[in-house]
Amino acid sequence: HWEEDWSTADIQQAAEEHVMLSWSNSSPVKDLPVFERSEGVYLYDSNGKRYLDWTSQAVCVNLGYTVPESIKEAIHQQLDSLPYLYGGLGLAPVRAKLARLMAEICPGDLNGFLFPSGGGEANEAAIRMARLYTGKQKIFTQYRSYHGGSTSSLGATGDFRRRFTESNTHGFVKFFNPQPSGFSWGSTDQSATRRTLATLEDQILAEGPDTIAAIMVESIVGAGGVLVPPEGYIEGVRSLCDKYDILMICDEVMVGFGRTGHFFAFQHFEGVIPDMVTSAKGLTGSYLPLSMVGVRQKIKNYFWEKPVGWGATYHAHPVAVACAYETVKYMLKEKIVEKVQSLEHVMMQELQNLVLKHDSVRQARNVGLFGCLDLQNPNGHFIQRLGGASPPEVQLLRQAMRDQGLMALFRPPLLHCAPPLVIQEEQLREGFQMLTKALEVLDLEQQR
Ligand code: PLP
Repeated sequence: HWEEDWSTADIQQAAEEHVMLSWSNSSPVKDLPVFERSEGVYLYDSNGKRYLDWTSQAVCVNLGYTVPESIKEAIHQQLDSLPYLYGGLGLAPVRAKLARLMAEICPGDLNGFLFPSGGGEANEAAIRMARLYTGKQKIFTQYRSYHGGSTSSLGATGDFRRRFTESNTHGFVKFFNPQPSGFSWGSTDQSATRRTLATLEDQILAEGPDTIAAIMVESIVGAGGVLVPPEGYIEGVRSLCDKYDILMICDEVMVGFGRTGHFFAFQHFEGVIPDMVTSAKGLTGSYLPLSMVGVRQKIKNYFWEKPVGWGATYHAHPVAVACAYETVKYMLKEKIVEKVQSLEHVMMQELQNLVLKHDSVRQARNVGLFGCLDLQNPNGHFIQRLGGASPPEVQLLRQAMRDQGLMALFRPPLLHCAPPLVIQEEQLREGFQMLTKALEVLDLEQQR
């Protein structure tokens, strides 16, 4: 097999015998479609069937599958000139250029930048720095959050995946989101904001502000279901951090780099500048692995004198950094963020149509091209348990979407709607038509 052409059957057999999946058990590998080709917002499987990518994979292939020439060139040039450099032994020019560009894009005095390889790793480094900088240990995070798969970032995570590291949640204190899943803080934004913040303040006092290094939040919760905070909430978290001398960390791994119609999602909230911001995914359009931690001047100054206490062989890998530098410049030149803003109302309108038309859709919401719908069955709400099979409704809808040629990411009862940011309006509307047809199959089944 070393030099021969592989048939699709050969590939499937090798995968079945050797490939391991990550969050799920590995047996579904045998049912995964094999993709060999992609273009624009579409992927083509080994039978030539076309799929519209409805979630930019893990909400990360923000510029789609046709890699812009300037990005390809930057990657090639870096490979030709300096394919690798260990960050402690030398400085690749492009690392300085990317850090300068980030300082220009980030508001306020977010002026110091680390470049790890993945989002979880960026959060891991941010947590480490927060503890070193403050000399305090506790990190407050939300129940409906995902911060990464490494030990600390999974300890920080509130969603079901945290159970994979139950013994390592030490040092993390969980608090409720303004949108808890089983109860409500009140029927208006004002009451949700007021009550959640009052409860959070009580919790800070009960834990002791002098033991809390940071409050870490996803500026807009992603994997938990596009939970847009009620008015005043993020601003209120910032005020509590100021009041009690606690650092605020915004996890923008999923929402950073334009997804919500701003470069960073915290820019939706009046006057909020976190002490640290982490991001990844869209930073390189996910063409190469790279993440970032941005810190404010006071923290940068502190680590001028003291070690960050974190490192990795691939930190600031020059080829990934070159890719990020050109990706961000491309986004600026092509006005990708403005384009997302202009499509926001299209997604909003289409999502609301789905709520009106389909019994199986309970609710839907979006900000920019970051959308999500909540499914329901005739008995109401349903969820998927860790390690459990997908609920039958989801299995049916997933297949119906596949048949339509729509590639979907489910977190039952959620269905994410987050296509590449370069999607055209007609393609977006076409995607919603396909989704409508798939939902009709589910509605029919549920009416039986
Ligand atoms: N934080 C958030 C908000 C995320 O959505 C993710 C991944 O989806 C991560 C952290 C982890 O990033 P990575 O998978 O690159 O480690």
